[in-house]
Amino acid sequence: MSIKLPIDIRNVKGFLAPHEGEALYHLAAEASTLGPVLEVGSYCGKSSVYLAAACKLVDSVLFAVDHHRGSEEHQPGEEYHDPELYDDGAQLMDSFRTFRRNIRAAELENWVVPVVAPSAVAARHWNTPLGLVFIDGGHSLEAATTDYRSWTRHIVPGGYLAIHDIFPDPADGGQAPYDIYKLALASGQFELVEMVDTLGVLRRL
Ligand code: SAH
Ligand code: MG
Repeated sequence: MSIKLPIDIRNVKGFLAPHEGEALYHLAAEASTLGPVLEVGSYCGKSSVYLAAACKLVDSVLFAVDHHRGSEEHQPGEEYHDPELYDDGAQLMDSFRTFRRNIRAAELENWVVPVVAPSAVAARHWNTPLGLVFIDGGHSLEAATTDYRSWTRHIVPGGYLAIHDIFPDPADGGQAPYDIYKLALASGQFELVEMVDTLGVLRRL
């Protein structure tokens, strides 16, 4: 089923294949009837547009958690550094301006709550049950494990956990997202729904 997004998603910088984005959209359309959606790792808002456009259908909401300072690979000199997202004054990455611009251009401001904070800080006092958690933040084992432990416990029974950048073969990419994916399955609390490219979709039992 093809979907219609409020903006040309190709113009939003990011790290999400069209197939993965469409899968997120359909997932959020279903899951947001169970509770709000939360993503860790928004960057410039590519995944956020897919998720929030689906939330809009049922007037649910997306909590978009990101400190907007970039992951390891976005820092100056690293493989995915983008000088356009660098704040020269602060000498720090800052994807928040671009994120806001994209969410506004998509007219999704009423369905997105930006949470500009480290994931662990945002999670500290979190108490709201969630219909879908999408983990696409830092890719160190520590960051991914923290995201897993912080957020998956808030997923309602029947709700969903989606994890991006799953590479079963270490030759294809870092192993932390795959590690938390295996952690979820081994916990006995989740079952696999589908894999779409590198996106793993699990359901909370
Ligand atoms: N989902 C995005 C890509 C996210 S890239 C897309 O569709 O294009 C990963 C993002 O995670 C970066 O923007 C980075 O700032 C954020 N991030 C990394 N570690 C984080 C942490 N500990 N807390 C909050 N955000 C984090
Ligand atoms: Mg990713």
